Amino acid sequence: MQADQLFVGLDVGGTKTAALIVDPNDVVLGQVTVPTRTANPDELLTTITRAIQAALAKANATSQQIQSIGLGVPGQVNPATGIVKLAVNLNLQTFPLGPAISARFKAPTFLENDVRTAAIGAFDYLRQMEPVQSIAYVSIGTGIAAGVVLNGRLHRGQNGMAGEIGHMTVEPNGHLCNCGLHGCLETIVAGPAIIHQMKAIDPKNNTQSAGDVYEAATQGNPAAQTVVQRVSQHLCRAIQWLIMTYDVEKIVLGGGVTHSGDAFLAPILGELARLRQQSTLAAELLRDEKLHLIPPDYNPGVWGAVHLANQMSTETITYISANDGSRSSLKT
Ligand SMILES: [Zn+2]
Repeated sequence: MQADQLFVGLDVGGTKTAALIVDPNDVVLGQVTVPTRTANPDELLTTITRAIQAALAKANATSQQIQSIGLGVPGQVNPATGIVKLAVNLNLQTFPLGPAISARFKAPTFLENDVRTAAIGAFDYLRQMEPVQSIAYVSIGTGIAAGVVLNGRLHRGQNGMAGEIGHMTVEPNGHLCNCGLHGCLETIVAGPAIIHQMKAIDPKNNTQSAGDVYEAATQGNPAAQTVVQRVSQHLCRAIQWLIMTYDVEKIVLGGGVTHSGDAFLAPILGELARLRQQSTLAAELLRDEKLHLIPPDYNPGVWGAVHLANQMSTETITYISANDGSRSSLKT
């Protein structure tokens, strides 16, 4: 026998979609991860529908028990209308994803950008251990971006894109980025960029992933060590920007590249120590304990989506339901 108030969270990625179902006490009842199909919007809707149905089956529950649904989606998201724009990885230009899901499951559906959603999940994770109020969550995977929570509130910015540090120019004459600019941070520190740099130094290297590069570096491979040092210096700079800009209590690091654990973190801490030696300001602001690594078995994206669904956070905005145009409040 399950509660009638179930909350569904989804982390919709370009390759995988994770779904989580919890009861009002955040007890996990069902979770699945399925491949994302993105050929057209209908396929994406089918992916999301099947992920929810599969998670419901694991929870031994029915869709009538769903209280609300939250989704973290890569792209520009308008939480008030549920419309997603410029979701390149999902093959969506402009699409009313929230209303479509809401209509299928007859439940209020709340959307937010995926990294902003993961920032909510990272904030909740950290709050279980200490009473933090302000964090920046940095996701480092196929891209890099941050989500910022200030005084317990998700900081969205004018276009919901606050924290898109991946497209800050760090090398004006650097490589062309997917966004059209040259030398974005993303062209250096994201997973594909790490592999690319390794192959540029050592073309015969059989590196398949950023994890391979980090492992090779710990085993003493000079090319890998060069790449890791460069990546760590730029990540350290990004951490410095976020701390100087937002004066947050914690910088939380997550995403696939961070799953190398100590091999990932140690060179960043080394770079921070180097800056602290040079500057009393850095010594005050860039302390090791400001950094926190999300463990690989905690998915902040899907937990953030659950908390979008159950309206755990603090800033109230209005969401227009697809079915009847009625309004319900969403706190993000
Ligand atoms: Zn860019």
